[in-house]
Amino acid sequence: ADALDEQTRKLTEEREVLGPAYRLFYRTPVHLVKGRGARLWDADGTEYLDVYNNVASVGHANERVVQAITDQASQLNTHTRYLHENVLHYAEDILSTMPEEIDRIMFQCTGSEANDLAVRVAQTYTGGEGIIVTAEAYHGNTELTSALSPALGTAQPVGPTMRMIPTPDTYRLVIPVSDTLAPTINTGIAYSEGIDTDAAALAAMQAGLESGALIRAGEASAEQFGNWMAGEVHRAVADMNRHGIKFAGLLADSIFSSDGVYPDPVGFLKPVIDTVHELGGVWIADEVQPGFTRTGDAFWGFERQGIVPDLVTSGKPMANGLPTSLMAARHEVLEPFAGSIPYFNTFGGNPVCMGAAQATLNVMRDDDTQGNAKHVGRLFKEGVIALQPAHACIGDVRGAGLYIGCEIVKPGTKEPDQKAALDMLELLRDRHILTSVCGRFGNILKLRPPLVFTEDDGNFFLEGFESVLLELGL
Ligand code: PMP
Repeated sequence: ADALDEQTRKLTEEREVLGPAYRLFYRTPVHLVKGRGARLWDADGTEYLDVYNNVASVGHANERVVQAITDQASQLNTHTRYLHENVLHYAEDILSTMPEEIDRIMFQCTGSEANDLAVRVAQTYTGGEGIIVTAEAYHGNTELTSALSPALGTAQPVGPTMRMIPTPDTYRLVIPVSDTLAPTINTGIAYSEGIDTDAAALAAMQAGLESGALIRAGEASAEQFGNWMAGEVHRAVADMNRHGIKFAGLLADSIFSSDGVYPDPVGFLKPVIDTVHELGGVWIADEVQPGFTRTGDAFWGFERQGIVPDLVTSGKPMANGLPTSLMAARHEVLEPFAGSIPYFNTFGGNPVCMGAAQATLNVMRDDDTQGNAKHVGRLFKEGVIALQPAHACIGDVRGAGLYIGCEIVKPGTKEPDQKAALDMLELLRDRHILTSVCGRFGNILKLRPPLVFTEDDGNFFLEGFESVLLELGL
């Protein structure tokens, strides 16, 4: 352990060369050297359960993916100005998982690049500039996409043509019934993103609404909740119009991962996307998080919601760790941009990355990662929910498939308890379990393991988590 500590100290010091922007997890950083499936090992040989990584989607060091990378790398890897079958085969194969309207695809290296391109395509197609995102969204690190990523905080200015709509928070929001009836401009006075719904209800009443005129978002139907959110889109577009900005579209991830994991009620995005279309915009479905079978209900997050996007982006889980991303589109949406503006991406779609992406997709199909995400994810979520009665700090548990958000609050309230959540991360790490937090208040445990996560892995987490809760007296 002394040797490890010395090495950790040395690596931490040497990291100064990378500058201060990158943040590591944990008070003492973890130095990993090996991974297999949902397991990771540090330099000291300690084994960890990975409850966080959606990049190693089909498992760390998946043999079939490693083989595909090795085979292709030992033959050829080049830039993308020559013909190669890998990119074409994969393009056809991945498009076959999408609705037939989505019939064009371009490849990049990161989710940020994919979103950057999608926004430009949307802006060219609509002739507008205005993009709507949710209040805690993260969509990337380029100039364009970071300006569309309020999750980066106030130090990163958001763009002047961007408008935010609230996080679809089914746990805390209280909304006026009148806003749930039809997708028209919301009253805008009653919903509150306050941390205490009762205080929000009180504020609403003081603003002149009867308490009976309010509904808790968690009790709203998909249609009601969707109508409310569509009203927020109306409000955002009206504000764009007041400022002379033409609406181009909505950029949203259908499980609202960085907002804090809000996948339900299934179908609530339908009225929202209908409204986006009525107002002349397009929907860019950011599938970096919900795509590639993660939700267990469907291959794609938009499919789970029962809607067809205009543009689709994804990255992280696509090639099991190789930097590979995609932007797929309806051909008529892509045409105005692609037909006039040259786009070249040196590495995007190269033979090795496409080989890795193909192998990843093959594994997803052959090993039914969707079925596993559904089955194990359900048991896993039920296990976390079962801890709630004895541990009042677990305020809400939500999620789809192997993507679960567990809200840590001050017992008896909905007040977020980020300190407790961060203490839990450290104590889980001591029990050899790695995960992290998300959401506006940084208090939501984000449980998002590789898709090969098993029931036993889930039980290992649950036992560790319970003992952490007992140790903290929560
Ligand atoms: N969109 C979403 C929803 C993401 O979660 C991320 C990464 N966390 C990105 C886009 C950006 O992807 P990348 O880091 O590959 O650029």
